[in-house]
Amino acid sequence: MIKKISHIGIAVRSIDEQMQYYRDSLGLEFDGIENVEDQKVKVAFFKVGEVRIELLEPTSEDSPVAKFIEKKGEGIHHLAYGVENISEAIKKIEQADIKMIDKKPRIGAGNHKIAFLHPRSSFRVLTELTEEH
Ligand code: ZN
Repeated sequence: MIKKISHIGIAVRSIDEQMQYYRDSLGLEFDGIENVEDQKVKVAFFKVGEVRIELLEPTSEDSPVAKFIEKKGEGIHHLAYGVENISEAIKKIEQADIKMIDKKPRIGAGNHKIAFLHPRSSFRVLTELTEEH
């Protein structure tokens, strides 16, 4: 069901402030920036082999990422697993008695279908499934 680690999401106050660190100091390959209206975040991607680092900057105070930073500060926000068929993955996970935040996939960055597990069911590691081809 789970094929790979897709990306690691990191909550940041400002992508601009951290761009130099990831791109120049660590030398990661910058892979674009986009607004994800649905989650009220601006997202910057960096490639590390098959995996990407996803910087999430809130674009509004009521963004879930803004609330996360307020509570816990900047840092690792979520882990995203790549799956082949997200609807099937959601079904399997629910059959295993794991709660989903998203019972149906929604559209995330890069127009990929995504769904989050409930952190209470995933031992407080915010976990995302993403369908990428
Ligand atoms: Zn993500």
